[in-house]
Amino acid sequence: MKLILLGAPGAGKGTQAEVICEKLSIPAVSTGNMIRAAIAQGTEFGIKAKSYADEGRLVPDEIVVSIIKDRLVQDDMKNGFILDGFPRTVPQAEALDKMGVEIDMVITIEVEDDKITKRMSGRRVCGSCGASYHIEYKPSQVDGICDKCGAETIQRKDDHPDTVKSRLEIYHNETAPLKDYYSKTGKLKVVHGQDEVKDTTALTLKALEG
Ligand code: ADP
Ligand code: ZN
Repeated sequence: MKLILLGAPGAGKGTQAEVICEKLSIPAVSTGNMIRAAIAQGTEFGIKAKSYADEGRLVPDEIVVSIIKDRLVQDDMKNGFILDGFPRTVPQAEALDKMGVEIDMVITIEVEDDKITKRMSGRRVCGSCGASYHIEYKPSQVDGICDKCGAETIQRKDDHPDTVKSRLEIYHNETAPLKDYYSKTGKLKVVHGQDEVKDTTALTLKALEG
């Protein structure tokens, strides 16, 4: 299964990606996590991407496309994968098509903007493995510590309220048109994000079945 997850920042793509990844035993590839890791490691790519990511702007297409290209040819991708956060613009989707990647399904997770703004302030991520939490809706077992790897959980710089507003604008202008792009191919499934993660998960699993 080759799957794309779409949705506004904070809609819960990452959390649903983790669920599907476990259920289907296929890797989830998050360009956001890859970019944050590159920034933390101070690679050449990370240095280029840092100002964009910190401000919540999209990293230029050619950079993101080139990291995805490198990732897609790795061995563990052979039996399928979940793309979480890629493509995020129409030119990125066209680049994926050009690579000859045949996507089986695209799931978009829909959540209203004002709900997203509220959610983002409580979001925390693991600084090491990238797992995501929410202080209210999906707390880690020990406050501030990642359940998966024991590292510290942090609030992302781009999760601060001012940045969230502009990220939502970018989402509507640049990423939402991908829903049209993929509905034309008949591959798009819409999942309405629920307040409880488990309820959204149930809808995602249903979408996967049919
Ligand atoms: P969210 O979905 O919550 O916005 P991500 O972790 O997916 O967060 O992405 C964080 C940041 O990484 C984005 O704001 C952007 O700067 C960069 N990024 C991630 N994926 C892409 C992409 N496909 N194209 C351009 N920039 C990206
Ligand atoms: Zn972790």
